[in-house]
Amino acid sequence: MDDTSGPRSRELLSRAIEWIPGGVNSPVRAFRAVGGDAIFAARGEGPYVWDEDERRYIDYIGSWGPLLFGHAHPRIVEAVQSAAARGTSFGMPTAAEIDIAERICAMVPGVDMIRLVNSGTEATMSAIRLARAYTGRSKIVKFAGCYHGHADSFLIKAGSGVATLGLPDSPGVPTGVAADTLVAEFNDADLVAEYFDANHGAIAAVIVEPVVGNMGVVLPRRTFLQKLRELCDANEALLLFDEVMTGFRLAAGGAQERLGVGADLVTFGKIIGGGLPIGAYGGRRELMEMIAPSGPVYQAGTLSGNPVAVAAGLAMLDLIAATPELYTRLEARTQRLVTGIETHLQRLGFQACVQHIGSMWTLFFHAGPVRSWVDAAHSDTKLFARFHQALLRRGVLLPPSQFEACFMSAAHDDNVIDETVRAIGAALEEIRA
Ligand code: PLP
Repeated sequence: MDDTSGPRSRELLSRAIEWIPGGVNSPVRAFRAVGGDAIFAARGEGPYVWDEDERRYIDYIGSWGPLLFGHAHPRIVEAVQSAAARGTSFGMPTAAEIDIAERICAMVPGVDMIRLVNSGTEATMSAIRLARAYTGRSKIVKFAGCYHGHADSFLIKAGSGVATLGLPDSPGVPTGVAADTLVAEFNDADLVAEYFDANHGAIAAVIVEPVVGNMGVVLPRRTFLQKLRELCDANEALLLFDEVMTGFRLAAGGAQERLGVGADLVTFGKIIGGGLPIGAYGGRRELMEMIAPSGPVYQAGTLSGNPVAVAAGLAMLDLIAATPELYTRLEARTQRLVTGIETHLQRLGFQACVQHIGSMWTLFFHAGPVRSWVDAAHSDTKLFARFHQALLRRGVLLPPSQFEACFMSAAHDDNVIDETVRAIGAALEEIRA
């Protein structure tokens, strides 16, 4: 056991391992990629998280993306409490579901209708079923290092969690399903064109994280997404943007708005639940009306559109609407942090780069630029592990893998950022020594 987790976390882990596989309900929480042990969270407030040992961390995991305004924002807490007091689940439609659908459709380009589900995994899985039904084709193209949840079709070269554990594919994924998933390199549209040529009339959709978070932050080259758009149009396939991470984070209209390329189907999660379990997929009316009960494509969920999650999501969308300059402020704060980190990296002579856009960033121990999984995989993960531990000891919590995005929130003010930069400088000095 590593000394970066405290005695109470260690005690909880040894209990958890008895009852929960690996002691955690999602693999990355086990900290295996950074050679440590799971840290058990006790509470959070604003930019901070406290563990069960009462250690305080400046948090850049941010629940893996949803906490745009930090932990336990009073407006979201209040929305959750009052919704729960009216009933936690009905299995009947509620007025708030229409409110959130109207709001999302108004904010996101090209989305006329949406269907709420319970997670990002459900959203991507259902959107691909719809794409296959619409086109009458089976194959999909995905990109190495992009993660789209843990449905069978996507667990092929699936980025962060899977890559971190060294499992390029997962046992249990039928070979037939895997054969229908063609894997290209991010930022390489030529290979996608070759797939279309070699699989004429067989590819239903190209699914992509328009800005990747799941191999660390990797930006699309200027023309990459546009080329995917053109290839899909030319081949009558659908372009699916997985905006589970980027939706409402890069802009109110997500990556589509920020990067100016439109998708046929878009998936969401995280932010639209304000930290509660939710997901959604949406697109133009003609596609979405194929979903049951309007159309034949079956997809359902007992807890879909759950009133507590929807209330939290609406409170989050209210906060976004009520915070002028939110996205420029978040970007300026991220830039302040990145500039501080880069100064230390240069001062200490590290072969490393910080890739960022909006409020997402990753420090790669790689000279950069990192443009694809091939590049990302060459990062010095051992050095990242030492860096992560050195930072934890200084009260800064990064996602426990080189291949993850860090998230800035509106609660991280300049003082918090400057404290982070100082801690990073000291951690880099320690690992260089
Ligand atoms: N798609 C992307 C881009 C994600 O980052 C994630 C999760 O991190 C998912 C899909 C899966 O979402 P969930 O974990 O809610 O199932």
